[in-house]
Amino acid sequence: MKLKSIQIAGFKSFADPTTINFEAGLTGVVGPNGSGKSNIIEAVRWALGEQSVKSMRSNRMKDVIFSGSKNRHPLNRAEVSLLFDNSTHWLQSDFSEVKITRKYYRSGESIYLLNNRECLLREINQLLLDTGLGEGSLSIISQGNVDAILDENLNQRRAVIETAAGVYRYKKQKQESKNRLAETQANVDRITDIVNELQ
Ligand code: ATP
Repeated sequence: MKLKSIQIAGFKSFADPTTINFEAGLTGVVGPNGSGKSNIIEAVRWALGEQSVKSMRSNRMKDVIFSGSKNRHPLNRAEVSLLFDNSTHWLQSDFSEVKITRKYYRSGESIYLLNNRECLLREINQLLLDTGLGEGSLSIISQGNVDAILDENLNQRRAVIETAAGVYRYKKQKQESKNRLAETQANVDRITDIVNELQ
């Protein structure tokens, strides 16, 4: 699976439709301070369903829409599409390319699309489940995240490493199963007591 390209229009500093293609190998984005490098990463997180406006360095969701400049009027819509190569069917979709699109209007209307078909955010979350791209994923690490991870205590840092290694999910499931077993044992004990009383 590979992110092939990002299309951005009306999102933060990207007023004009802009396509960023990712070729084979490593891609670096360079530019002066305030030129929009971080906005590209935010566009990716946003298209994947980011709901926290704070983590988008905004106060309201409307703030992600291009707010105008000296020479340009504000726009009414932000739109970001991510195009993934899915030839290995790493995402559970029959398509060999998967396009995820998010649109947001100043009126507050929000639209998600999968390969140009309107869908619910739940469908996108379902598609991304266990791929390392979903909510809270460590695929995108911001500058703030690095500081936070370094400041954490050993147990918290271990949880981050276990999440990245895919172990944390199983630990969580194991704990949930243990809790269910304990509940079931308590029920068995209660029923055994009742049976003993009746005998
Ligand atoms: P640095 O190197 O300092 O981290 P950067 O290249 O990562 O900077 P960004 O933080 O991505 O830059 O972009 C900040 C720019 O985006 C600012 O100029 C800001 O005015 C602009 N910007 C943010 N939101 C909007 C918006 N809604 N409309 C127009 N411009 C916006």
